[in-house]
Amino acid sequence: MAKIKWLGHAAFQITTAQGQHIYIDPWLEGNPSCPVAKEDLEPADLVLVTHDHHDHLGDAAALLEEGGAVAAGQPELIGQLEEAGVPTEKLVGMNIGGSLEAAGVVVTMTQAFHSAAQGTPVGYILTLPEGTVIYHAGDTGIFGDMELLGELYDIDVALLPIGSVFTMDPHQAAMAVELLSPQLVIPMHYGTFPALVQDADEFTQLVGERTPEVKVIALEPGAKWEF
Ligand SMILES: [Zn+2]
Repeated sequence: MAKIKWLGHAAFQITTAQGQHIYIDPWLEGNPSCPVAKEDLEPADLVLVTHDHHDHLGDAAALLEEGGAVAAGQPELIGQLEEAGVPTEKLVGMNIGGSLEAAGVVVTMTQAFHSAAQGTPVGYILTLPEGTVIYHAGDTGIFGDMELLGELYDIDVALLPIGSVFTMDPHQAAMAVELLSPQLVIPMHYGTFPALVQDADEFTQLVGERTPEVKVIALEPGAKWEF
């Protein structure tokens, strides 16, 4: 059984049925809503970062220190991880539209509309070995081609930012759910700072009105969804 654990903000730990641990946007230390210490997490097999802002790049380099963990990302982000001391053999370059297989998972890089110091912001679609498809949108505003992603991939779980100010707000994110048509959606990137939307209530209500067939799972930081 695969598991998705929210580590607060945009950070998730996805564990495949085979026991591989994938970390996305692992901002742990200094993340006010991260409930666990880095030392208490299982060693990473794969690390993915959507863009180089500190609240996403976070502890990626530290997670890559141990064992056989690898990271996939845009060349510019890979360069930053190399500068942070991650050995080149642990880093794999890719870019928007491309897919590769790592830790038994097919990773596809998607566009995202946001900013970055180097490279461009992205999202990821993960196809787990048993076929479950998870979309992590990264930080983004809504874009019409989410509909295309929903057509191309049979998305089971969408991880969408709803916090506004830096990303989609609940109103945009509810429309994004309609475009992506996942089975279930887990909201993220809210409640971390006072400036962000503080809870998922409005989002849950709007999705319920617009696409009642889609289940909203508003996790508490540290909680996980198993399927
Ligand atoms: Zn962010």
